[in-house]
Amino acid sequence: MPLDHDKSTDFANWYSEIVMKAEIVDNRTPIKGANVLLPNGYGIWENIQRILDAELKATGHNNMYFPLFVPEELLNKEAEHFSGFAPEVAWVTHVGDKKLDRKVGLRPTSEAIMYTMFALWIRSHTDLPLKVNQWCNIIRWDTKETKVLLRDREFLWHEGHTAHATYDEAVKQVEESMRIYEKLFHDLCLSYIIVKRPRHDTFPGADYSIAYDSPLPDGRVLQIGTTHNLGQNFSKAFNVRFQKADGEHEFVYQTSYGVSTRVIAAVLSMHGDNKGAIIPPKVALTQAIVIPIYFKGKHDPVNKATNEIVAELKEQGIRVKADLRDNYTSGWKFNQYELLGVPLRIEVGPRDVEKNQAVLVRRDNGQKITVSREELTQKVKEALEAVENGLRERAWKRLEEVTSEAKTLDELEEIYSDKKGIIRTNWCGDEKCSDQLKERIAVEIRGTKLGEEEEVFASCVICGNEAKEVVYVASAY
Ligand SMILES: [Zn+2]
Repeated sequence: MPLDHDKSTDFANWYSEIVMKAEIVDNRTPIKGANVLLPNGYGIWENIQRILDAELKATGHNNMYFPLFVPEELLNKEAEHFSGFAPEVAWVTHVGDKKLDRKVGLRPTSEAIMYTMFALWIRSHTDLPLKVNQWCNIIRWDTKETKVLLRDREFLWHEGHTAHATYDEAVKQVEESMRIYEKLFHDLCLSYIIVKRPRHDTFPGADYSIAYDSPLPDGRVLQIGTTHNLGQNFSKAFNVRFQKADGEHEFVYQTSYGVSTRVIAAVLSMHGDNKGAIIPPKVALTQAIVIPIYFKGKHDPVNKATNEIVAELKEQGIRVKADLRDNYTSGWKFNQYELLGVPLRIEVGPRDVEKNQAVLVRRDNGQKITVSREELTQKVKEALEAVENGLRERAWKRLEEVTSEAKTLDELEEIYSDKKGIIRTNWCGDEKCSDQLKERIAVEIRGTKLGEEEEVFASCVICGNEAKEVVYVASAY
């Protein structure tokens, strides 16, 4: 086993091992929680950027860049927002040995700085909607435990921010952002539940928050994306107003949404196995690795065929590489690229050259097929698609397996101690019950299912009073 830890029995150590050994991240930096994204990890992020950026531009977003620095008085403007983020804000207090009169925060998110500018730019209803996207780093200085990609002090994300003339348009914008994220998560082969967060867990300053929770192998869930309807809370705090067609002035309606490098943690956790990472083809830095198999020093014909295959596949837009190093055995290379998570391996040996063929090996299930050189490109494309479908199917099956239902607290407790996962149950809506649940079983109410109103099937699982809604509970990262 190339990894020292088993995914199913020791997920925490398996995860710590895989992020390093699959060359996703190097965390041996002098700052805890601020790590290096290595080519194999940054490659995933670049492909996520490519996918999201295209969707955002196609839906009318413009990319912009705003300052990293947020003065305290700006963060303070929306009180709920500020109190939500204050514990994690890192402050610049000195320049050289001189103490600053006003300390300056490093953005924990960009609402405050962006909406200060929106107030200068938006004048008339014809300036709306305003749809801005930013790719940037975010600083959230968690003083407790940090965990690579899951809880970093500095991470990368995209943040979409919009302003609209009506509440209804903001609601539609939330829906549009959800379609964009669903496309991304489809390409990442992730399964998830979409929930509307309960009031007490809504983004600070938002009317409501919609979140995507993806199951991890240890039975917990990971939030992989969120989208918020901010209503007029921020526009009132930042005085972002526009003149309507009838001459009246009104505050704009806003939304914001984001997906961060944290989603890479979900990709690794969902798909990887004890041989290493399995990176979905759409986001893999290298989609196919060609490995020549040398025999009795006959390098030349094999290398020639390998180079031809690489050239041919590259021409077809496939991200392909060859490993022609002769100081490593083919067996070592097989293991190495399996560890890195390359979705498809192409083997070319002397016999394959003679017979004008190559062997394709899928990373997700190890399936091997021999294909003729004529149909190689087509078969590689098909195999990549098969890997993608295989991963996606497995992920959704996994979600099904971890989802259960509980009518009573005893039932809930039993399921939780057995396998954790996502548990469907009933809630009265009282935050006190939610706190109690968290205290007693360490699970959180993640929210209600979006889109359809689900009929309650028992009384509140905590207090036993009449339940108002069906909720999904889980232990979260
Ligand atoms: Zn209750």
